[in-house]
Order: sequence, then C-alpha cells, then structure tokens
Amino acid sequence: MKTYGIAIHGGAGTLVKGLMTPKLESQYLKALKKARNEGYKILENGGSSVDAVEKAVVLLENTPLFNAGKGSVFTAEGTHEMDAAIMDGTTLNAGAVSLVTGIKNPVVLARDVMDNSYHVFLAGEGAMQFARTQGHILETPDYFYDEVRYQQWQGIKDSETFQLDHSVKKDGKFGTVGAVACDQNGHVAAATSTGGMTNKKWGRVGDSPMIGAGNYANNKTCAVSCTGSGEFFIRGVVAYDVSCLMEFKGMTLKQAADEVIHKRILEIKGDGGLIAIDANGNISMPFNTEGMYRASQSSNGEKTIGIYK
Ligand code: ASP
Repeated sequence: MKTYGIAIHGGAGTLVKGLMTPKLESQYLKALKKARNEGYKILENGGSSVDAVEKAVVLLENTPLFNAGKGSVFTAEGTHEMDAAIMDGTTLNAGAVSLVTGIKNPVVLARDVMDNSYHVFLAGEGAMQFARTQGHILETPDYFYDEVRYQQWQGIKDSETFQLDHSVKKDGKFGTVGAVACDQNGHVAAATSTGGMTNKKWGRVGDSPMIGAGNYANNKTCAVSCTGSGEFFIRGVVAYDVSCLMEFKGMTLKQAADEVIHKRILEIKGDGGLIAIDANGNISMPFNTEGMYRASQSSNGEKTIGIYK
C-alpha cells in the first residue's frame, strides 16, 4: 500500500500578543486535531482524498476560531463574504465560489460546483442562486457574529484600511483554513476556505478560491493550500508554482515549497505559508510568518501539530 496522509492549516501568522491565552491555545490545538483526525480516518478507511479534505475543512469552517465559515471576518459593509475552492488532482476537476454570504459551509458549495455544474468558478449572486438549487440552507447573520471580529472591524470600519484576521500590521494572523491529502491510491486533493480580510470592500477576492493561486492539486506533482496576504499569492500564482517547480524543474516537494515561500514570495514582499502533499504522501508545511496553525498525519507514522515555529 502507498503512503497516504493529510495536512491541514488554520492560517499563517500569530494572534496579537496578549490575546493568546493557554486556554485559547488549547482550543486551537483541539480544533486542529479533530479536523486532522477526522480527515485521516477517511483515508485510513480507504476513502478518497477529495472526501478527506472536504471533511477536514468543514470541521474548521464550523468553529468560530478560524476565519472561514462561522468565524469569517466582517466586510466594510458589516457582512460576511466567503470564498472557497476544492480540486481533485486525479481529474484536475475543480470547483470554487467567491463572495457568498450566509452559506454555512462554502467548501461544500465549491464541491457542488465541481460535481454538479459544468463550471469551475461561481461568484456573488449567481453562486447564491446555484446554492439554492443544491439545497444549501442559509444561516442568519447571527450565526457568523463573533465579538472579537466585530471589535476588529469597529476599529478600522471608517478607514480605508483592510486588515488580515487579528492582524497588527506586519505578521498578523490570517485564519484561512485548508487541507491537502493523498489517499491510498496516490490520488491528491486540496481544499481552501476563507472569510478574506476585515473591512474588505469592492468585491475584493483573495487567492483562496483561485485555482492555481491559493489552491491546486495534480497527481503528477502535489496538492497545495495557501494562507497569507492574498494579493501576493495571486501575483505569485503560488500553488501552481509549487507544482511547476516539481514538474518542470524536477524539484522535490520540500524543495519546491521552500523555494516559493522562503524565496519567490518574499521577493515580492508576500507573507504567509502553505501546506502541500505529493502523490507519495510526503508532506511539507513552510511559512515565513511567526507561526502557522497546522497539523498533519501520515500512514508512515508521522503526526504533527503546531502553531509557532
Ligand atoms: N489568503 C486569504 C485572503 O487573502 C487570507 C488568509 O490566508 O487568511 O483572502
């Protein structure tokens, strides 16, 4: 049997000093562990990498701790606009949604786009119409209300600033969630979900739902999910770049992921990180911020969980 495994992230960066208490830290670790374990269980039982990454991301979307689904940040209008994507490395099928509101699990909607439509990427009102045809139940705004995030928004609401989740200028906490997996057949998949940035406006879309920027999967190379300042990750076409370095330059997963996060993205002053897995089950999770909420498990016995460097 091939080596299989999963890696997940809950965003790069760290919480503002003073906000991270031992109690909160243990809640973060518990949420990460649960998402990783549930995703891994699917792989262990012979399930597909697509099902594993979707499950892990759903669990992360359901906790208020991360900036995705329930925990999504506030836009300039005081709403929540979410983005998500999923990609199957076997078929190169993909589904993505952007600027959706009220959807409990945007990653499930992205999966519906992949499985049940002829399209890859649906946005805004059209994506919402599609969601209704797929039977998604809409949550009311209170479901997404979180006092901490509301206060973050209040602090910058009337300014031109937009802010990464919990951020204090440089090295804030991003909070986007993602998962990558390789199943027992050596098939890889990636999923990413986010609320974007606090006080974002004008229909701002980050890298997370963009295939090739924040999310990519290809059995020939690897599956990648990114977190960080989306604008840089779009310009760097980061997720696809990792795959290209492997495919065209013959780099290993680790070499390619390090090259992108510690060199290429830094050259354009981008901060953040990524998780990646190749079709042999190797995992790499580099970041150039103070920390990245992350966890992984592989059938070779390796199990990791961490927040800081
Ligand atoms: N990449 C996300 C975005 O720019 C932010 C994050 O990683 O938290 O929308």
